[in-house]
Amino acid sequence: MDAHIYIHIPFCLSKCRYCAFSSVVSKDIPEERYISALLKEAALCRERGIFPSGLIETLYIGGGTPTLVTPSNIKRLIDGLRGIWSFSESAEVSVEANPVTLDANYVIELKKTGITRVSMGVQTFSSRLLSYLGRIHTPERSIQSFRYLREAGFDNINIDLIFGIPIEKQEELDADLDWIEMLEPEHVSAYLLEHEPGTWFADVTPCDEDSVIGFFSKIEDRLRGMGFIHYEISNYARPGFKCRHNLAYWKYRPYLGLGASAVSCVREGTRWRNIKDPYEYMVRIEKNISPVEYVDNFSADEILFEKRFLSLRTAQGIDIHDMPKNVPPSLFNIKGSRAVLTKEGMLVSDEIFSML
Ligand code: SF4
Repeated sequence: MDAHIYIHIPFCLSKCRYCAFSSVVSKDIPEERYISALLKEAALCRERGIFPSGLIETLYIGGGTPTLVTPSNIKRLIDGLRGIWSFSESAEVSVEANPVTLDANYVIELKKTGITRVSMGVQTFSSRLLSYLGRIHTPERSIQSFRYLREAGFDNINIDLIFGIPIEKQEELDADLDWIEMLEPEHVSAYLLEHEPGTWFADVTPCDEDSVIGFFSKIEDRLRGMGFIHYEISNYARPGFKCRHNLAYWKYRPYLGLGASAVSCVREGTRWRNIKDPYEYMVRIEKNISPVEYVDNFSADEILFEKRFLSLRTAQGIDIHDMPKNVPPSLFNIKGSRAVLTKEGMLVSDEIFSML
């Protein structure tokens, strides 16, 4: 059976205004100790029988800011995991990168670690919007970092974009898409800005609905025009470059999360989450205490709902018999026995999901 691993690196150089992810701001991260704790947790999971015969198809190192970790420790982590589980020969090994942490030397070393895919948190190429979002990098840094990655030989790069920023102008989105056209990444993730509770944006009035629809339509039209396949509500890939790790989540495949605040679902119906504080996480692992803080069990109905919900987000869609009754058929494309959301359907997907 295929198996998937997520690693959480919970450290960042500063906190972005919109961010609700679990991360600690630190310039001096305890990377040796944290990587050792990750490898120890992995070995304990293996001893407990997790993925006994599974072949690791994807490994995703996310955060936080994983590229705060030196390439030598990223290599130690990947090599260590390869010593604990068998990896598929074509395993996808991704890392999230903050443009501000990359330079020519870093990416050359990163290429030697076994990383096959880099997901870069560009968000926008507008310096005005970057500072409004509380990002510390500049558009020039994103462009330069992307070029460093290409020169180092990375041939599978994702660019993350955020749209629907309350002060965003149409011409700023156009410029973002112009840069995508020039840089030619293999993959683009375009997320609507979320105004999460507890963040600076929580009390800011969101972008109006008409603008969001306009932004979404522009992104979809332009990226499709560039040859991208729109394979999930927020994700676009060139042929052959869908993110296999995220596809595994959407297909409800088993995944193990390692590290502070990482979530695991290695058996259908049970999900657990590790403790969020990275320092407490390390202490627990060092003292052989389980880092798991929270376990959730799901009923058969809840599992069914989640499977439909995840599948409907993707170009896979759902079985036509599972289509919600009260939704206008025009919001679905029927492909054989599958019902897939149209662009208009994606724009009201939250309402459709609530009827599943
Ligand atoms: S770099 Fe990413 S994880 Fe870190 S604070 Fe910003 S959005 Fe959050």
